[in-house]
Amino acid sequence: GRFGLPGRITVAGLGISGISAARALAGLGARVTVVDNGDGDTHRARAAELAELGIEVRLGHLPDGARAGETLPEGTELVVTSPGWPPQSPLFLAAAEAGVDVVGDVEVAWRLRAAGVELRAARRAAAAGTGAGTDAAPAGPAEWLAVTGTNGKTTTVQMLASILKAAGLRTAAVGNIGTPIIDVVLGEQPYDVLAVELSSYQLHWAPSLRVHSGAVLNLAPDHLDWHGSMQAYAADKGRIYEGNTVACVYNVADKATEDLVVEADVEEGCRAIGFTLGAPGPSMLGVVDGILVDRAFVENRQKNAQELAEVKDVNPPAPHNIANALAAAALARAYGVEPRAVRDGLRDFRPDAHRVARVEEVGSVVYVDDSKATNTHAAEASLASFDKVVWIAGGLAKGATFDELVQKSAARMRGAVLIGADRALIAEALARHAPEVPVVDLDRTDTGAMLAAVREAAALAEPGDTVLLAPACASMDMFANYNKRGDAFADAVRELAAENAGKA
Ligand code: ADP
Repeated sequence: GRFGLPGRITVAGLGISGISAARALAGLGARVTVVDNGDGDTHRARAAELAELGIEVRLGHLPDGARAGETLPEGTELVVTSPGWPPQSPLFLAAAEAGVDVVGDVEVAWRLRAAGVELRAARRAAAAGTGAGTDAAPAGPAEWLAVTGTNGKTTTVQMLASILKAAGLRTAAVGNIGTPIIDVVLGEQPYDVLAVELSSYQLHWAPSLRVHSGAVLNLAPDHLDWHGSMQAYAADKGRIYEGNTVACVYNVADKATEDLVVEADVEEGCRAIGFTLGAPGPSMLGVVDGILVDRAFVENRQKNAQELAEVKDVNPPAPHNIANALAAAALARAYGVEPRAVRDGLRDFRPDAHRVARVEEVGSVVYVDDSKATNTHAAEASLASFDKVVWIAGGLAKGATFDELVQKSAARMRGAVLIGADRALIAEALARHAPEVPVVDLDRTDTGAMLAAVREAAALAEPGDTVLLAPACASMDMFANYNKRGDAFADAVRELAAENAGKA
C-alpha cells in the first residue's frame, strides 16, 4: 500500500476510535470495511455518514445469519481493533487463522507518522501557491514520549505536555485523551514531540511501536478479566519499553516496573532512569528537602544533582502526584528539556476534574472529590494524601478485594460511608481489619443517595478532617460514569454548605 499499510482494511467497532481510524484510512486510499455487532439507531446514523465516504459498514447480522462483528470480510489484509474488544474475539481468531494481523489505533498512528509529514508538506506546498502563510514544520515526524501504568497516566501526560510547552516545544497530550491519535498524526498541526498516554490494551495491539522514551508509573491488578492474568497485563505494559532509544523510566518503589525494564530489548545506549519520593541514587530523579532533584540528567558532571522544582509547585502536592511529576520530569529531561521548564510546566499544570479535586470547605472540614479513583490502588494513594479522612466509597468492585487497602489506610480513617452495589465487600474488609472505624452502610441507590452519604460523612467528621470521595470502585451501578458521580458529590457538598450558611 501507499503509506506502508495494506489496501484492504477491516475496522472492528463503530465507536469514536473506530470511526477515526476508518475515516483516516479511507482518506489515504485504503478500502475500508467497518464491522460491529450492534445495529441500533446510533450505529445506523454513523454507518450512513461513513457510507458517504465510500466506507462499507456491516452491522448486526449478515444475510447468512452470522454476526457482522464476528466475521472477517473476504480479502481483509489487516484488522484495526477498537479498545474493549477482548483479544479472544471470534473476529481476531478468524484473522489469526487467515494469517491477518490485528492492530490498534496506536499502531496505525505509529505507522502513519511519515505519511503525516508528507501530507503536511503537500498542504504547505498548496498553501504557498495561494500565498497563505503556515508554520514551519519539523523535518521529520514528532518524537513520542509515552506513559503507561495502572494509575496516573492522564495526569502525567498532561504534566509532561505542560513542561514541554514551557520549553517552547510544539506538543500535545494524546492517547486516551482529546483528539484521536491517528487524527493528531495526520492532522494539519505539526508537532515536535507528543506526550502519549497508552493503556495496556493499546500496547497489546501495537507490536511495532518504538518510542523515544517511555515510563511505567506503577503496576497493580486491574482489567485482569481482559488480559487473563497479572502476568499478561504486566507484559503488555512492558511493551512500552521495547526498542526505546533514550530512556526507560521506572518507579523505584514498584519493583515490578523495574523488572519490565530489565526484560525489555532496548536500543544501544538507552538508559534506565528511576524516580523515587526519597533521595535519588545515581540515574534517578527524587526528592531532597522539599525539592524535586535530578541526578540522572545532569549537564555538569561536577554537580551530583540538579534542582528541578519545589514540591509545592506540584498540583496537588500529594505523594502519588509528586511521583507523577517526577515521571513527567524524567521523560522531559530525557528529551533534553531544561530544569527551568520543568518547574514552569509543573506550576502551569492544573489537574482534570474529579482527580483529588478540592470542592469546598464546610464547617472546618474540607471536601475532596476523587471520583476517578475507580480501583483500590488509586483510592489507597488518595487516602495517603490526607491525615484524617472520612472515606466515602463503594460501587462496582470489578472483582477486587479490599483487605490491603483497608489495612494500609485504617490509621487515617475517622469513619467510612459506603454506597453502591458492592459495598458489603468493603464493609467486610473494614470489619476484619479496622473494627474501630465507625461505618455507615447506606442502602440506597436513588438520586438522593449521594447527598445522604455526604450528610452522614459530615456527621462523622471533626474539624480539620477531610471528607474524601475515593470510591475504589467503578460508578456504573449508580451513575453513567465517574464524572457524573463526582458531580453528584460536588452538588451534595454545595447543598450542605448552603444549608450550613442558612443556619449560621
Ligand atoms: P489514569 O489515566 O491512569 O486512569 P489519572 O491520572 O486519570 O490516571 O488518575 C486516576 C486516579 O488514580 C486519580 O483519581 C488518583 O486518585 C489516582 N492516581 C493518580 N496518580 C496515581 C499514582 N501515581 N499512583 C496511584 N494512584 C494515582
